[in-house]
Amino acid sequence: MTRDNNLTTFIIFPVFYDPEALSNNPGLQALTEYGTPAKDDWVTFVCPSRIDYRRQKTDSLIQLIRALEPDGISIDFIRHFVFWEKVYPETLPDSLLNTCFDSSCLAAFQERTGIQIPDSLNGTNAIAGWIESKALSDWTQWKCELITSMVHELSEAARKTKPEIKINVHLVPWRTDDFNGAVRSIAGQDFSEIATWADYLSPMTYAHMVKQDPSWIHSVVQDVYQQTESLVVPSIQVKEAYLDCKLTVGEFEESLSKALEPPSCGVIFWSWEQLQTEPEKKELIIQMVKNRQRK
Ligand SMILES: [Zn+2]
Repeated sequence: MTRDNNLTTFIIFPVFYDPEALSNNPGLQALTEYGTPAKDDWVTFVCPSRIDYRRQKTDSLIQLIRALEPDGISIDFIRHFVFWEKVYPETLPDSLLNTCFDSSCLAAFQERTGIQIPDSLNGTNAIAGWIESKALSDWTQWKCELITSMVHELSEAARKTKPEIKINVHLVPWRTDDFNGAVRSIAGQDFSEIATWADYLSPMTYAHMVKQDPSWIHSVVQDVYQQTESLVVPSIQVKEAYLDCKLTVGEFEESLSKALEPPSCGVIFWSWEQLQTEPEKKELIIQMVKNRQRK
């Protein structure tokens, strides 16, 4: 139907968020530095170093592209575990849980880096503490490689299946130095490396949700652009989420205008379903598009 209406379609493709895979095989669960499942409310993550799981994901993307022939794919949940939607400006960096410390990741990390974790350490917490004090930058680098290589595998498979397909990647909306560099050390997203394999980068700049002003949206876009010089398309929320206070029409209008400031090259609305329940905001978007067409 979208093709009949001359619309471009991107399909959102979640990667390491897969509740169905986890319910079929709980052993795939990513583990925190305390050895506990990487789970917080609905946010639950698959260990990113499982080769079979990664291959299956890539295969399912190929099937999806063959079946639906989308114009683009939007790679989502392409990171390590973190419920960033509830990480507010005052959050202390040390309170963010590091993952994944299961046997698959620990073995792969040692093999990749040549670093030997001492046999004398007992339990996940002791091992994680040793890594954080003795090999943190190698660990962070390796975490980022796991994510970048998955973006590479998916985009390569997608382009092989449909050469003209466009690749968008959803980014955690953290600037380089936010929370002590957590975008790399916790989320494992190295924007400049990810950009190599993507056509667009889309930071999820839901300002209201993470208790930031609309001007923050522009600062995140600038930070992503400075690191990548890529096409950056921020995503903004159209309605409040997780918090009770309303996202007013005025705040939405300001967010929209900040989201469109260069070097941004567009905007994504999250979500279209919610926009249907917000007629004033919908009208605002329609007027904005009309004004732009007039220019
Ligand atoms: Zn793991």
